[in-house]
Amino acid sequence: MKSVDILVIGGGIAGVSAAARFARQAQTLLIERESALGYHSSGRSATFFHFGIGDDAVRGLTAASRSFFVDPPADHSDVPLSQAKPALFIATRETMGELEALEAEMRRFADTITRVGPDDMQAIVPVLKVGNDGAVAGILDVGGQKLDADLLLQANARALRRAGGEIRFGEGVAAIVHDGARWIVDTGVERYSAGIVVNAAGAWADELALLAGVRPLGLTPLRRTIIGFDPPSGLDISGWPFLKTVSDDGFYMLPDAGRLLASPMDVTPSPPCDVQPEDYEVALAAWRVEEATNLSVSRVPVKWAGLRSFVADKVPTAGFASDAPGFFWLAGQGGYGLQTSPAMALAAEALLFDQAWPDELRAYGVRPEQIRPERLTG
Ligand SMILES: Cc1cc2nc3c(=O)[nH]c(=O)nc-3n(C[C@H](O)[C@H](O)[C@H](O)COP(=O)(O)OP(=O)(O)OC[C@H]3O[C@@H](n4cnc5c(N)ncnc54)[C@H](O)[C@@H]3O)c2cc1C
Repeated sequence: MKSVDILVIGGGIAGVSAAARFARQAQTLLIERESALGYHSSGRSATFFHFGIGDDAVRGLTAASRSFFVDPPADHSDVPLSQAKPALFIATRETMGELEALEAEMRRFADTITRVGPDDMQAIVPVLKVGNDGAVAGILDVGGQKLDADLLLQANARALRRAGGEIRFGEGVAAIVHDGARWIVDTGVERYSAGIVVNAAGAWADELALLAGVRPLGLTPLRRTIIGFDPPSGLDISGWPFLKTVSDDGFYMLPDAGRLLASPMDVTPSPPCDVQPEDYEVALAAWRVEEATNLSVSRVPVKWAGLRSFVADKVPTAGFASDAPGFFWLAGQGGYGLQTSPAMALAAEALLFDQAWPDELRAYGVRPEQIRPERLTG
């Protein structure tokens, strides 16, 4: 049986970014059921950093994460983990109220936003339908960032290993019990004894808790679909922003490696699984793009789906379970797990080692009680 101080379960962005911090202070091992980091949600996202999503706690975590992507710590990466790319949030006449509300919320965290009108929006995205036919106003945020998910995962893995930590692939938790002093975890490949287990199992986090006899958080995994299609030949899309409707029944679209990616922003409940795109949402994505622009989506060469897992208040959770010793939650990253990962790792480190609440989080108004599991489980 291998003995460690901290066993992190789950090799998505949540697990690996927190493990990289834990390893500086304690012997840390991360286990992942799949054969690579980011096989599930973390490798299937739109990889964008913006303030058009979540509440104040989420926006605070996002703001506190920005410098990590732009100027990462030396033990993580020698190059930036993101590239500057504007975000443009658009409204029709009917959704102007939502635009106004969003602008007020974003202004609390971003001083990089301006209101733009139909002509400005068409200059930025020439295919966008504007006026009576389409978008009447928008919020342009030049502080957006296109993240590099693979680079981000690998940078955290590098920092983890540099600090003496280890990652093991192909090991899923089959049994987990507390023997009164330590957690005994069996993966079928190896048995581990750990003082602390960190539940960073993404969509499976509640299932893992139930296996361990711990009260679940009430996590809901929601499927989201992305399609990739080619722009008309000769059209340079490289400077286009991340474009998102302010209403939830719209779409988002962004350029990526010469293609356009688009999502109908679907929120379909799903059990935790290797989720696949459904024909309906693929068609809906194409239809919504065609409705709002002059683009025609005749072929969809790329499509995928992933799970975004939320607790009731939609704020990510970090902290020890109140009903089990040494069982640490790191779950419910929703649709912002990449863009909040540096701040969540920092928060997790402070809570796990019972250290002072970091100034970087305090500066953006993020408080421990907003993310601790007690707010959900009592
Ligand atoms: C379509 C889509 C678009 C998105 N866009 C964005 C975006 O633009 N910006 C952003 O910040 N976020 C975005 N997100 C959200 C982001 O991807 C997630 O919040 C984030 O990836 C969650 O990370 P995680 O580590 O919690 O989960 P995961 O990446 O799913 O990792 C959990 C890991 O735990 C492993 N595991 C589970 N159970 C066990 C077990 N018993 N034993 C061992 N291993 C186990 C799994 O194999 C998995 O690899 C998007 C998500 C989707 C689906």
